[in-house]
Amino acid sequence: QQQVTVNPNSRFLHFYASRGHKLLPSASLVPDDPTVLLTIAGMLQFKPIFLGKRCIRTNDINNVGLTARHHTFFEMLGNFSFGDYFKKQAILWAWELSTSEFGLPPDRLWVSVYKDDDEAFQLWSNEVGVPVERIKRLGEEDNFWTSGVTGPCGPCSELYYDFHPERGHVDADLNDDTRFIEFYNLVFMQYNKKDDGSLEPLKQKNIDTGLGLERLARILQQVPNNYETDLIFPIIEKASKLANVSYGFADDQTKRNLKIIGDHMRAIVFLISDGVVPSNVGRGYVVRRLIRRVVRTGRLLGIKGDGRGDLEGAFLPIIAEKVVELSTQIDADVKNKAPRIFEELKREELRFVQTLERGEKLLEEKLSDALSNAERNGTVPCLAGEDVFLLYDTYGYPMEITKEVAEERGVSIDMDGFDIEMEKQRRQSQAAHNTVRLAIENGENVAENVRDTEFIGYDRLHCKAMIES
Ligand code: ATP
Ligand code: MG
Ligand code: MG
Ligand code: MG
Repeated sequence: QQQVTVNPNSRFLHFYASRGHKLLPSASLVPDDPTVLLTIAGMLQFKPIFLGKRCIRTNDINNVGLTARHHTFFEMLGNFSFGDYFKKQAILWAWELSTSEFGLPPDRLWVSVYKDDDEAFQLWSNEVGVPVERIKRLGEEDNFWTSGVTGPCGPCSELYYDFHPERGHVDADLNDDTRFIEFYNLVFMQYNKKDDGSLEPLKQKNIDTGLGLERLARILQQVPNNYETDLIFPIIEKASKLANVSYGFADDQTKRNLKIIGDHMRAIVFLISDGVVPSNVGRGYVVRRLIRRVVRTGRLLGIKGDGRGDLEGAFLPIIAEKVVELSTQIDADVKNKAPRIFEELKREELRFVQTLERGEKLLEEKLSDALSNAERNGTVPCLAGEDVFLLYDTYGYPMEITKEVAEERGVSIDMDGFDIEMEKQRRQSQAAHNTVRLAIENGENVAENVRDTEFIGYDRLHCKAMIES
């Protein structure tokens, strides 16, 4: 086990500062850019001209706790060059940083290049000396970066760490999460993509990189996944304690739930710290959804607060305290904002718990009805699609809990009936949408009213699509 005596974060900064880079502060999660909801990469703050780090990726939400490497919130370190050094220097430094500064054994490192990027392939092979069997050519999806349909773009090259070199290089798959982890991505911005799709070389070539701090920490600390690094594990331990379980002895589902809490709580605390308020639209909805998932996950684990009178049963503030404690390396400012963050969390959690409890009550009624009807008619007890939909839509009661509780009581669920209701609702909201569009075309300012609608759904697919796009 390798001891990380100095924060990798500051070692990265020092490495590039002593190679002529200007250090810049971390960017806010709330970007000054109307085209994106949240900061998804370190370079976002440079988009106007063309070192920042905190990122939110809601598109990775379903990977949380399943893969060993994806978070919704993570820190991305980056070195950038605007018309200064380019491909060769970026590659040489990335290698030196990884092997000399962080001491990663060269024979554990693999790299990927864009399939047509012979220049990068040659540099890795001839200048750095990476054996060709550890240089993989990947396609557009993995290794070509574009900012949009047109505009600056270019090939990428990624560095991977191999946890299992004994598996050899035949059929090695860099996306195999049980063996490899991508930790550093180098983007070579060298083209301008034109309307007709052709690539025109840029006069001023740029370098944009991203190195995932949690992933580097996992490699350096030699733990099985990012969650077990000292960046996240203390949060998981706190949650385990509240749930009265031991992470080491927990089954996979319990572990996954604890990881979800560890991941989401970091995202939540930093989002609120950067000024995002839970709501039903935009970024506010992202944070609300994360909070609700933690509340639900906590209930599944049996977490019910620790009896602190001031919290009235809420547990999010207790876990948030741990996040704040760990936050000083990332953002010293979070400490000052902590009281406001805890207050916001408590309010939001208690409101959602109320929703859950109202749903529970209704579900109980509907289940008793279903059971007594079945007994009277000699049929199999079944919860009507309409009722399932009512709980889900009007009460905002999570579908999976409905399913679980019904199953426990021996009641099946009419999912076909539910789908019919869902489709009805979809058509209605489409019609409402069209009405709104008409109103807007007629020059009325309805946006305000649209925003103020009551939140009735939870985890609805169309909302999900909205925040992920
Ligand atoms: P992956 O292929 O593993 O999903 P990526 O290619 O999507 O990663 P990039 O867009 O290249 O990631 O981001 C640069 C770096 O940021 C990655 O090399 C990785 O270290 C880190 N990173 C990306 N996504 C995540 C995430 N969801 N959680 C933690 N770190 C991440
Ligand atoms: Mg990805
Ligand atoms: Mg990748
Ligand atoms: Mg990448």
